[in-house]
Amino acid sequence: MMPASRLPLPSAADLAIVGGGSVAVSLLYQFLLALEAAGGERASRPLRVALFEPQAEPGPGGAYQEDLPSNLLNIPAGNMSARADQRMDFVDWLRGQDPAWLRGYGVDVVAPSDFLPRPLFGAYLRAVHARCRELALSLGVTLVHEQCRVRHLALRQDGAIAVTPEQGASWIARHAVLCNGNLPSQAFPHLEGAPGYFNSPYPVSALAGEIDPDASVCVVGTSLSAVDAIAALQQSGHRGPILCVSRNGRLPSVRSPHNQAPKSLRHLTRDGALLLAARHGGALSVEVITQALKDEVQAMGGPLDADDVLGLEADARTALDEEIRRSSQAARPWQAVAAATNAAVDQIWHLMPDAQRSRFQTQWRALWMARRATFPMRNALTLQALFQRGQLQVRAGYVDTRYDPADQRFHTRLRGAAGDATLASRYLVNATSFSVNAAATRDPLVAGLLQDGLARPHAFGGLALDFDTGCLMDARDAVLTQLSVLGSLAGGTYFWTTSMDVNARLARDQAQRIAAALTRPAPLTDPGNPADSPSLARWPAHRPTRPAPTASS
Ligand SMILES: Cc1cc2nc3c(=O)[nH]c(=O)nc-3n(C[C@H](O)[C@H](O)[C@H](O)COP(=O)(O)OP(=O)(O)OC[C@H]3O[C@@H](n4cnc5c(N)ncnc54)[C@H](O)[C@@H]3O)c2cc1C
Repeated sequence: MMPASRLPLPSAADLAIVGGGSVAVSLLYQFLLALEAAGGERASRPLRVALFEPQAEPGPGGAYQEDLPSNLLNIPAGNMSARADQRMDFVDWLRGQDPAWLRGYGVDVVAPSDFLPRPLFGAYLRAVHARCRELALSLGVTLVHEQCRVRHLALRQDGAIAVTPEQGASWIARHAVLCNGNLPSQAFPHLEGAPGYFNSPYPVSALAGEIDPDASVCVVGTSLSAVDAIAALQQSGHRGPILCVSRNGRLPSVRSPHNQAPKSLRHLTRDGALLLAARHGGALSVEVITQALKDEVQAMGGPLDADDVLGLEADARTALDEEIRRSSQAARPWQAVAAATNAAVDQIWHLMPDAQRSRFQTQWRALWMARRATFPMRNALTLQALFQRGQLQVRAGYVDTRYDPADQRFHTRLRGAAGDATLASRYLVNATSFSVNAAATRDPLVAGLLQDGLARPHAFGGLALDFDTGCLMDARDAVLTQLSVLGSLAGGTYFWTTSMDVNARLARDQAQRIAAALTRPAPLTDPGNPADSPSLARWPAHRPTRPAPTASS
């Protein structure tokens, strides 16, 4: 080992962003826009931002990689923007692209209501990152992409964050934001390494490339990821039987192409939710929220037909036929209302006491996920055709799966009214979605934060955060004002962090808070203030830790 005196000096950053996917790029862009908007109130020295992302190009992250075009965005293009204040940014960018390039993805005309192939959004995010580089240059901000994973984050005594990458020199940052995305699923550790096992459906091109087209495939999970896996198999000409299983056997609801966003909501806006809570003793219960949702749907003239809103109680094939019929015929106001709650969903969740959140998680979450996370008509028709050909079965009552090396098959057990049944398949695709269980993760960065007491798991998933700022709460419930979190690890605090519009809004709020902290004029009486001192040797060493008060929840 090199003697400490000869170790390279760490680099310094004002902001370190850990991860370089959609959420990180949205944060970076809105941080630079906030600095630009601050105009004259520039920091008294040039700022430095370091983005840590192992992929060569920041932007697409895990969700928006180049992959088969059957992978569709599950949100209309008009709601997919890296900027919270310009919802049409993605659509406007697409309209400026070469029509021949767009036709390569099967896109002729771009409409805000379209569900476009996910790789197009990845290309947009790369372009947003390129804009960030230009904007940084014009603002005099140094922007560095460190192409590596971060292994460890530590809080130094001076209050700065020590960022240790897997390779290369470490960094010291005044603020760090964790945008490291989804933790890998740990649903089937006993199957890892079994031939024919896929721990994730992504990239779906791997399923298409590696699965024998005549073999049997079992997809575990019936949510959006399962739909992606099935659509990819169909697109790649798979001929063998596809079995799709989960506990409830419910496919997501099919989004109606006729939906129009409500002009305004009465109760389920940010202010409306506060007023509603005030009328109910300062908190929201599952019943109060359910009634408010019903009122909003009725205000749009929508029916409250249980088969429409909760889905037909039938086998998956009949239920899908009914979903397609309803969504082809007319708008479904309940879907439009549910989508519009994205603007206040974190506030609504925050106003629910823990007992109500627990009730929701245990009794309603599975149903809410299946109905709220809708999927586009194009993929619904693909599944319908597979059902009609007798190639696809979707079954409820999933119990477990084991791999038998003797016959090289996966044996999946289902439980129904008639008892247990076991179905064999040559391949198994885990489409049960990512993990939000921070306490159980093998991710060294997250596990290290927990071990060091800098973070604690949130009871409803991810890490415990201060609601107002998104900053980590440490093991003793103090808020670490220098270290915040965005994306799925923030899901226990904000509930719906799997939607770009929610993530872009949360990212803007953090970007503006950090930009304001970095451009705030320094008090004249504090010669050691880090904002005045470009030298690494000076500023981190004098910075006191001043934890903010804990969250108001
Ligand atoms: C398959 C899929 C499809 C989705 N489709 C949609 C959709 O259509 N519309 C929508 O609104 N939402 C969608 N979502 C939900 C949500 O938008 C995505 O989860 C979102 O893109 C997450 O972005 P992210 O930046 O948080 O994470 P990711 O895209 O996972 O990016 C995280 C990045 O962090 C990097 N990283 C991880 N660990 C480290 C580390 N230790 N150090 C440095 N870098 C690290 C990774 O390399 C990765 O690039 C989808 C989610 C998934 C999983």
